[in-house]
Amino acid sequence: MNREYDVAIIGGGIAGSALAVALADEGARVLVAERAEEFKDRVRGEWLAPWGAAEARMLELSPVLEEAGAHALPYNISRSGKPRALRTAQGDVPLAFHHVQLQEALLRAARDRGVAVERPVVVDDLRGGARPGFRISRDGLSCQIDARLVVGAEGRSSLVRRLLKRPDYEHRSERLLAGVRVSGLGGPEDTGHFLIREDAEGLAMVYPQGDGYGRAYVVLPGSTAGDFRGEAGFRRFVDFSIESGISPEVMANVEAEGPLAAFRSSDRWLKTPYRDGLAVVGDAAGVSDPTWGMGISLALRDARTMATALRESEDPQFAAARYARLRDRYYEVIRTIENWQSDLLFTPGPAAAERRRHAVAGWSEDGSRVPDLNGVGPDLDISEGARMRFFGEDRYGASVPMARPIGTRLLGMTG
Ligand SMILES: Cc1cc2nc3c(=O)[nH]c(=O)nc-3n(C[C@H](O)[C@H](O)[C@H](O)COP(=O)(O)OP(=O)(O)OC[C@H]3O[C@@H](n4cnc5c(N)ncnc54)[C@H](O)[C@@H]3O)c2cc1C
Repeated sequence: MNREYDVAIIGGGIAGSALAVALADEGARVLVAERAEEFKDRVRGEWLAPWGAAEARMLELSPVLEEAGAHALPYNISRSGKPRALRTAQGDVPLAFHHVQLQEALLRAARDRGVAVERPVVVDDLRGGARPGFRISRDGLSCQIDARLVVGAEGRSSLVRRLLKRPDYEHRSERLLAGVRVSGLGGPEDTGHFLIREDAEGLAMVYPQGDGYGRAYVVLPGSTAGDFRGEAGFRRFVDFSIESGISPEVMANVEAEGPLAAFRSSDRWLKTPYRDGLAVVGDAAGVSDPTWGMGISLALRDARTMATALRESEDPQFAAARYARLRDRYYEVIRTIENWQSDLLFTPGPAAAERRRHAVAGWSEDGSRVPDLNGVGPDLDISEGARMRFFGEDRYGASVPMARPIGTRLLGMTG
């Protein structure tokens, strides 16, 4: 049996479902093929930056986020220890939610708009070309899918990205980010916490989701994935959060409500994520260091960029090539600023500490030296001048030579 679509999407995560909703709103015939029968907590992002909330608003997804229980977090406590408002110029504030609930709500919204959602299915026999497509199978039955464009939205283990024959880059870090969903959170429910320890010795974050639930993360220097196993791993996680400055009122009574897992805080991306009828969006196109919480915002930006390009062109393959060029640019902005922040704030040692002192002195005099990654995101300036202002090099000179601990490297070509 053969079925035909305008766009066939593999993966019903936030990137795939948001794109499906946007395309269905334009009247396109869309399929989403998802392998999971039900979504489980895989320890993923649950904090949406203000610029990502603006992306969701522009995609007209705000009601879906509301249905998924999105919780506004207009304030954030960081290095000053005082709550500070986070927002875009248009007033969008950060949102926190349970990732699984948002995935379910988005996929339901796609189905309600006429998207064919096939779940659970196995996808294979993937092909590009003028008439790209793949096969889906369930319970011994198979069906051939033909489309004008195939989009891989299958996250880090994307099948489509492997066929693209594009350069595959990594900016590797030695940091591990561990996260867990918790209940029993105390303290104000409208305030997130993002506390980097003095001398770059780790980080603790907490994002309440209402009713005492929330997502907590730590970067514990020198830790391995094994350090977070079992009850002892969870206790270590909670103790480290409190030592790092999260108030005991917030953390003292928390319990784990899901798996505690750790992931390397690296960036990994494809250059120009489209080729020959096959495109990738979201984490499949490029994972950004989860420390900075930009992945979901990027996934929504991808959905909006791809949907806009498809609306503006008769030829889906031309549209996808345009999406890929734009994606290269905005992903580079996000990654560059994340890398500046990581270099400055997570490099240990006395030389790095002096460099931080210079930078922070400049920020205290003139707050515009710090790029507003959360509020402005991909539209920021990443020129050499902006970099020098961030590091304070225009004032103090580049007197403290910093070797990047680990730089960007080409892993090879996919496919
Ligand atoms: C520890 C951690 C913390 C993070 N914190 C934040 C944060 O606070 N804020 C933020 O914005 N981002 C954060 N991120 C990043 C964010 O979670 C991701 O960028 C986002 O989930 C990417 O969504 P996606 O839809 O591209 O991929 P995924 O969420 O991975 O979804 C992929 C979907 O495809 C399906 N799939 C996979 N393979 C196949 C296949 N072969 N066939 C069919 N279906 C398939 C999967 O079942 C899944 O439903 C964090 C990530 C990590 C690891």
